[in-house]
Amino acid sequence: MGDAPSDESFFGRFLTKLLSVLRWGQSPECIFCKIAAGNDPSAEIHYHDSNYVVITDIAPASKHHYLVIPKEHIRDMKCLDDMHIEMVNDMLRIGKQVLESRGGKWEHCRNGFHNPPFISVSHLHMHIISPESEMSTRMDLTFRPDSYWFKTTETLLGILDRMKPPVSQVQSPIDELGDLR
Ligand SMILES: [Zn+2]
Ligand SMILES: [Zn+2]
Repeated sequence: MGDAPSDESFFGRFLTKLLSVLRWGQSPECIFCKIAAGNDPSAEIHYHDSNYVVITDIAPASKHHYLVIPKEHIRDMKCLDDMHIEMVNDMLRIGKQVLESRGGKWEHCRNGFHNPPFISVSHLHMHIISPESEMSTRMDLTFRPDSYWFKTTETLLGILDRMKPPVSQVQSPIDELGDLR
């Protein structure tokens, strides 16, 4: 009986953690979840709303380097499907807005996502880097467009778009009418 309270507290802590992930989609150990929840005072936050937060990358690859992070804990781009197209477009719009509001040029911007298993933090984030011309050789390689390890937002949107069910699989009311005739 003496062991019961500690077992209970261990189990309680485990349940609390599990519930917080299930209910809020946040992982207590995840640095980006911590930032999204406003629990990391060191993060330089440029934008936040109920769904997204934008911070400066901890090791900027150029003059402007921001991370657009959804508050929901999504591991990486491999977890996305056609239902996330709107989310990725939101992230792109917000990233462009932050870059331009801070004097960066969108036409000189490189943006995209790490392709697993080559991920830095296991919480989905879009890199917004500008200007591309000021990137070092090493950074240029780290964020090489459409390499095995980094995919541009445009490429990701193309991948997600191809996940949409083919139109022919969706039965239209006209097809049903045809069956009745
Ligand atoms: Zn997270
Ligand atoms: Zn990253």
